[in-house]
Amino acid sequence: RSVDLNNILTIVCSNLESTIDKNQATIVYDNLPTIVADSSQLVQLFQNLLDNAIKYCREEPPKIEISVELRGNEYLFAVKDNGIGIDRQSFERIFQIFQRLHDSEEYSGTGIGLAICQKIVELHGGRIWVESQLGAGTTFYFTINSQSS
Ligand code: ATP
Ligand code: MG
Repeated sequence: RSVDLNNILTIVCSNLESTIDKNQATIVYDNLPTIVADSSQLVQLFQNLLDNAIKYCREEPPKIEISVELRGNEYLFAVKDNGIGIDRQSFERIFQIFQRLHDSEEYSGTGIGLAICQKIVELHGGRIWVESQLGAGTTFYFTINSQSS
Protein backbone atom coordinates (compact mmCIF):
# COMPACT_ATOMS: atom_id res chain seq x y z
CA ARG A 1 0.00 0.00 0.00
CA SER A 2 3.09 2.22 -0.07
CA VAL A 3 3.21 4.01 -3.40
CA ASP A 4 6.10 5.91 -4.90
CA LEU A 5 4.51 8.99 -6.45
CA ASN A 6 7.31 9.22 -9.01
CA ASN A 7 6.10 5.88 -10.39
CA ILE A 8 2.48 7.07 -10.35
CA LEU A 9 3.39 10.14 -12.41
CA THR A 10 5.39 8.02 -14.85
CA ILE A 11 2.32 5.82 -15.42
CA VAL A 12 0.02 8.84 -15.79
CA CYS A 13 2.34 10.55 -18.28
CA SER A 14 2.57 7.36 -20.30
CA ASN A 15 -1.25 6.98 -20.28
CA LEU A 16 -1.57 10.58 -21.48
CA GLU A 17 1.38 10.40 -23.88
CA SER A 18 -0.57 11.16 -27.06
CA THR A 19 -2.40 14.15 -25.49
CA ILE A 20 0.86 15.48 -24.07
CA ASP A 21 2.60 15.17 -27.44
CA LYS A 22 -0.28 16.62 -29.45
CA ASN A 23 -0.52 19.70 -27.20
CA GLN A 24 3.24 20.02 -26.59
CA ALA A 25 2.52 19.99 -22.87
CA THR A 26 5.26 20.17 -20.26
CA ILE A 27 4.78 18.54 -16.87
CA VAL A 28 7.32 19.40 -14.19
CA TYR A 29 7.84 18.08 -10.67
CA ASP A 30 10.69 17.57 -8.26
CA ASN A 31 11.37 14.27 -6.57
CA LEU A 32 8.08 13.09 -5.03
CA PRO A 33 7.62 11.11 -1.80
CA THR A 34 6.44 7.58 -1.22
CA ILE A 35 3.09 7.63 0.57
CA VAL A 36 0.52 5.19 1.92
CA ALA A 37 -2.32 5.25 -0.61
CA ASP A 38 -4.25 3.25 -3.20
CA SER A 39 -2.04 3.29 -6.28
CA SER A 40 -4.73 2.84 -8.94
CA GLN A 41 -6.86 5.56 -7.36
CA LEU A 42 -3.87 7.91 -7.32
CA VAL A 43 -3.23 7.22 -11.00
CA GLN A 44 -6.85 8.13 -11.71
CA LEU A 45 -6.66 11.26 -9.54
CA PHE A 46 -3.54 12.68 -11.21
CA GLN A 47 -4.69 11.56 -14.64
CA ASN A 48 -8.01 13.44 -14.34
CA LEU A 49 -6.28 16.60 -13.10
CA LEU A 50 -3.56 16.51 -15.76
CA ASP A 51 -6.07 15.70 -18.50
CA ASN A 52 -8.01 18.85 -17.52
CA ALA A 53 -4.86 20.97 -17.21
CA ILE A 54 -3.89 20.03 -20.76
CA LYS A 55 -7.42 20.21 -22.22
CA TYR A 56 -8.48 23.62 -20.81
CA CYS A 57 -5.43 25.43 -22.14
CA ARG A 58 -4.94 28.73 -23.92
CA GLU A 59 -2.92 29.50 -27.06
CA GLU A 60 0.46 28.70 -25.54
CA PRO A 61 1.44 25.09 -24.83
CA PRO A 62 0.25 23.84 -21.44
CA LYS A 63 2.79 23.91 -18.64
CA ILE A 64 1.85 22.03 -15.48
CA GLU A 65 3.72 22.11 -12.19
CA ILE A 66 3.11 19.49 -9.53
CA SER A 67 4.36 20.05 -6.00
CA VAL A 68 3.88 18.43 -2.62
CA GLU A 69 4.82 19.26 0.94
CA LEU A 70 4.26 17.53 4.26
CA ARG A 71 2.15 19.70 6.57
CA GLY A 72 1.67 18.15 9.98
CA ASN A 73 -0.02 14.81 9.41
CA GLU A 74 -1.02 15.43 5.80
CA TYR A 75 0.52 15.93 2.41
CA LEU A 76 -0.55 19.07 0.56
CA PHE A 77 -0.44 18.74 -3.22
CA ALA A 78 -0.71 21.48 -5.83
CA VAL A 79 -1.30 20.97 -9.55
CA LYS A 80 -0.84 24.32 -11.28
CA ASP A 81 -1.61 25.07 -14.91
CA ASN A 82 -1.37 28.06 -17.24
CA GLY A 83 -4.77 27.47 -18.86
CA ILE A 84 -8.04 29.34 -19.39
CA GLY A 85 -8.91 29.58 -15.69
CA ILE A 86 -12.18 29.26 -13.76
CA ASP A 87 -14.34 32.07 -12.40
CA ARG A 88 -14.72 32.26 -8.64
CA GLN A 89 -18.50 31.59 -8.70
CA SER A 90 -17.82 28.13 -10.15
CA PHE A 91 -15.19 26.93 -7.66
CA GLU A 92 -17.63 24.62 -5.81
CA ARG A 93 -19.78 23.57 -8.73
CA ILE A 94 -17.04 21.98 -10.84
CA PHE A 95 -16.69 19.12 -8.34
CA GLN A 96 -20.31 18.08 -8.87
CA ILE A 97 -21.00 15.34 -11.36
CA PHE A 98 -21.98 16.45 -14.90
CA GLN A 99 -21.17 20.11 -14.18
CA ARG A 100 -19.18 21.55 -17.06
CA LEU A 101 -18.25 25.21 -17.54
CA HIS A 102 -16.80 24.92 -21.00
CA ASP A 103 -19.43 22.89 -22.76
CA SER A 104 -18.42 23.28 -26.38
CA GLU A 105 -17.04 21.16 -29.18
CA GLU A 106 -13.63 22.64 -28.50
CA TYR A 107 -13.57 21.13 -24.99
CA SER A 108 -15.29 17.77 -24.97
CA GLY A 109 -15.96 15.82 -21.78
CA THR A 110 -18.64 14.33 -19.56
CA GLY A 111 -18.13 16.24 -16.34
CA ILE A 112 -17.19 13.32 -14.12
CA GLY A 113 -13.41 13.75 -13.78
CA LEU A 114 -13.37 16.12 -10.81
CA ALA A 115 -16.24 14.35 -9.03
CA ILE A 116 -14.08 11.20 -9.10
CA CYS A 117 -11.06 13.18 -7.89
CA GLN A 118 -13.06 14.50 -4.94
CA LYS A 119 -14.24 11.01 -4.02
CA ILE A 120 -10.71 9.57 -4.20
CA VAL A 121 -9.26 12.38 -2.09
CA GLU A 122 -11.99 11.90 0.53
CA LEU A 123 -11.29 8.16 0.62
CA HIS A 124 -7.73 9.14 1.55
CA GLY A 125 -8.87 11.37 4.39
CA GLY A 126 -8.30 14.61 2.51
CA ARG A 127 -10.08 17.42 0.71
CA ILE A 128 -9.72 19.11 -2.66
CA TRP A 129 -10.23 22.73 -3.70
CA VAL A 130 -9.34 25.12 -6.47
CA GLU A 131 -7.82 28.58 -6.81
CA SER A 132 -8.05 30.31 -10.15
CA GLN A 133 -8.59 33.47 -12.12
CA LEU A 134 -10.15 33.57 -15.56
CA GLY A 135 -7.43 33.74 -18.17
CA ALA A 136 -4.66 33.36 -15.62
CA GLY A 137 -4.42 29.62 -14.97
CA THR A 138 -5.70 27.31 -12.29
CA THR A 139 -4.24 25.51 -9.28
CA PHE A 140 -5.94 22.46 -7.80
CA TYR A 141 -4.95 21.71 -4.22
CA PHE A 142 -5.63 18.51 -2.36
CA THR A 143 -4.52 16.88 0.85
CA ILE A 144 -3.94 13.24 1.66
CA ASN A 145 -3.66 12.01 5.21
CA SER A 146 -0.12 10.71 5.68
CA GLN A 147 -1.43 7.72 7.70
CA SER A 148 -4.21 6.81 5.25
CA SER A 149 -4.41 3.34 3.74
P1 ATP B 1 -14.45 14.50 -18.06
O1 ATP B 1 -13.31 14.79 -17.11
O2 ATP B 1 -15.48 13.64 -17.44
O3 ATP B 1 -13.96 14.03 -19.39
P2 ATP B 1 -14.81 17.34 -17.86
O4 ATP B 1 -13.35 17.59 -18.04
O5 ATP B 1 -15.74 18.31 -18.51
O6 ATP B 1 -15.18 15.88 -18.38
P3 ATP B 1 -14.35 17.58 -15.02
O7 ATP B 1 -12.97 17.07 -15.18
O8 ATP B 1 -15.18 17.09 -13.88
O9 ATP B 1 -15.21 17.30 -16.32
O10 ATP B 1 -14.29 19.17 -14.93
C1 ATP B 1 -15.52 19.92 -14.75
C2 ATP B 1 -15.39 21.27 -15.44
O11 ATP B 1 -14.47 22.08 -14.74
C3 ATP B 1 -14.85 21.21 -16.87
O12 ATP B 1 -15.89 20.96 -17.79
C4 ATP B 1 -14.22 22.57 -17.04
O13 ATP B 1 -15.21 23.49 -17.42
C5 ATP B 1 -13.74 22.92 -15.64
N1 ATP B 1 -12.29 22.64 -15.44
C6 ATP B 1 -11.75 21.54 -14.88
N2 ATP B 1 -10.42 21.62 -14.80
C7 ATP B 1 -10.07 22.82 -15.34
C8 ATP B 1 -8.83 23.51 -15.55
N3 ATP B 1 -7.66 22.96 -15.19
N4 ATP B 1 -8.88 24.75 -16.13
C9 ATP B 1 -10.06 25.30 -16.47
N5 ATP B 1 -11.27 24.70 -16.31
C10 ATP B 1 -11.28 23.47 -15.74
MG1 MG C 1 -11.99 16.34 -16.94
